Amino acid sequence: MSERIVVVGFGPVAARLVDELVPAVRGGLVQLLVVGQEADAAYNRVMVAELGVGRTTAEALAMADAGDLAADGIEVRLGVTVKRIDRARQQLVLSDGTTPPYDRLVFATGSRPVIPNLTGINPDPSHPVLPLGVTALRDLRDAAQLRDAVTSGKRVIVLGGGVLGLETALAAAEEGALTTVVHNGSFPLGRNIDRGGGAVLAASLRNSGITMVGNARSTAVEHNGPDGKFSALVLDDGSRIEGDLLVLSCGVRPRIELAEGCGLPAATGILVDHHLRTYHEPHMFAIGDCAEVRCADTECAECRTALGPSGLVGPGWRQAEWLAEYLILLAEGGQGAADTLAPLPQEKPGVVVLKARGINLAVAGDNSAEPWDDELLSVGVSAGMPRRQVAQWADPEHGRYVKMTTRGGALEGLVTVGMPRTAAELVMLFERGSELPADRSLLLRLDGPDQLDSSASSDDPQRTVCRCAGVSGASIEEAVLDGCSSVPEVSKATRAGTGCGGCHGDIKGIIEKHFQGVAA
Ligand SMILES: Cc1cc2nc3c(=O)[nH]c(=O)nc-3n(C[C@H](O)[C@H](O)[C@H](O)COP(=O)(O)OP(=O)(O)OC[C@H]3O[C@@H](n4cnc5c(N)ncnc54)[C@H](O)[C@@H]3O)c2cc1C
Repeated sequence: MSERIVVVGFGPVAARLVDELVPAVRGGLVQLLVVGQEADAAYNRVMVAELGVGRTTAEALAMADAGDLAADGIEVRLGVTVKRIDRARQQLVLSDGTTPPYDRLVFATGSRPVIPNLTGINPDPSHPVLPLGVTALRDLRDAAQLRDAVTSGKRVIVLGGGVLGLETALAAAEEGALTTVVHNGSFPLGRNIDRGGGAVLAASLRNSGITMVGNARSTAVEHNGPDGKFSALVLDDGSRIEGDLLVLSCGVRPRIELAEGCGLPAATGILVDHHLRTYHEPHMFAIGDCAEVRCADTECAECRTALGPSGLVGPGWRQAEWLAEYLILLAEGGQGAADTLAPLPQEKPGVVVLKARGINLAVAGDNSAEPWDDELLSVGVSAGMPRRQVAQWADPEHGRYVKMTTRGGALEGLVTVGMPRTAAELVMLFERGSELPADRSLLLRLDGPDQLDSSASSDDPQRTVCRCAGVSGASIEEAVLDGCSSVPEVSKATRAGTGCGGCHGDIKGIIEKHFQGVAA
């Protein structure tokens, strides 16, 4: 008998899992039911802000077609919420009143935006009531609200100076909205970046036409008129920032309530082991934004330093691909067959890059050390470890900044603003743990006017070009050799460029280089 697998949630990570399971469904090995709370089939959520400013279409974001899936024999229920899981009976309780059974269940419930506690907004975390003119920019309906504001050149206030807030603000400003970013630190991206990089970034944002309001504590939203539409954000010093649309960009929280409700342990996310299995229930799994890989073994060194869910789509996609293989092996040959699959490799530390047209920024690792810290100036080794070194270069007038924090010559942290080639090179060196040249200024020169685009990072076929889908330059070159001649064709063949789209320029570059070579 085929295994009944239920996937809870139909976001981009569930879509990848379903995609990978299609052959097993067609072959009768598994029966698949996907339950999604949203009315739409999975779409690329990463591009919701781009949709909101009119740079892409909902069709381009679509990742699944419910009709096609049904034709493949997959049952998809959209606009339906899983209310409860009855573990004893191995069945779900759905909002449509049905109680489908499962042999294996996958949580892909994602995350939800954090709604700040502001007077005028009901902060109930599961059903926040956002007044008209306030959005958290998470789904297609939120994108439509932003679209309305941008097309009519309205005043958009973004609350939150994190990556998503800044990307939204930059895109909205570039498309004609009067945009203000309100954040509570002295510089934006406070969680990731150092003070110098933050100051240069803030100046670049202002140069892009964005009003930056730092060190601001917001306390309330004001509404106007009979429809109660948002009119202003109130700060704790009594000042008001008037606007037409408030975009809340205050972080996300994994959706763990369903798993917790049936007694499964969770921390920030639903706790799973290196096989993505929930604690106590090896036939239940979690992937994507809702999952936290941290095994129960207190001796596990990997898990001791694990940081919790990344909130990024790339790690979720890798989990989905791995889990599909595992589930197929389970269905084919039972636990013995599945045990032959090596556990999911640990994710490398993340690199933050801003998806923006006007500002190039890359941040990774620990950037807290300053060049003049005592620890750095003392001679010899500290605590048996090679000493940290910090090299820093700033040119605020031209919006350029680089900081490289190394230990034993290899990068522990990096910040670059306005230095695209240096950024690409440093990110590659960081991801590989390679040693930097002793003369760090060589790296700065990559962005000099006399440089051709011939850095090691752009020539190295093994470099990761698409970080979301984990695709190397070599795989893209292979697809081009096989006949792909456009970015969409390469994306279809390799999945490169299907996430945030930040690598489209690099993919285009590889295609062009190939055809130039052929023409020569
Ligand atoms: C504006 C924006 C920009 C972003 N940019 C980037 C980026 O540049 N790079 C990057 O890596 N990531 C980015 N992200 C994050 C990325 O979108 C997420 O990591 C990704 O969506 C996670 O996918 P998921 O499928 O795990 O969860 P989600 O996308 O959250 O999907 C989960 C789905 O499950 C449904 N669900 C939840 N509970 C239930 C239930 N009980 N019953 C039925 N259905 C349920 C939800 O309604 C939702 O549709 C961005 C996100 C946003 C909003």
